[in-house]
Amino acid sequence: GDTIFGRILRGEIPCEAVYSDGLCLAFRDVAPQAPVHVLVIPRQPIARLADAGDEDQALLGHLMLVAAKVARQEGLEDFRLVVNSGAAAGQTVFHLHVHVLGGRPLAWPPG
Ligand code: AMP
Repeated sequence: GDTIFGRILRGEIPCEAVYSDGLCLAFRDVAPQAPVHVLVIPRQPIARLADAGDEDQALLGHLMLVAAKVARQEGLEDFRLVVNSGAAAGQTVFHLHVHVLGGRPLAWPPG
């Protein structure tokens, strides 16, 4: 089904984009959990990481590389990537996304 990220990709609702290419879009999280909090999403709507298949290997690798590129672009040396897959893991928007978090010390384990 459609999600708020689908609407962002179609330009129906605004976002603060920080990176864009033919495969993905990166934009600032509307409720940032760290000084830098960016979401990297594929243009292709995969609901959850658990739904990705072997055919998505290159796309998933691309999302990781873009996440690292965005972190560098944001001036981060150290950063964390998070992918919540499924509601019990904290996923609220069912369009795959990689959280890029940084700009403060990040505790482990996460909540
Ligand atoms: P998750 O809980 O992993 O599904 O993450 C969804 C993220 O999307 C949350 O961090 C939200 O703050 C963020 N979010 C929801 N709506 C928007 C929006 N319109 N623009 C930017 N970020 C959003």
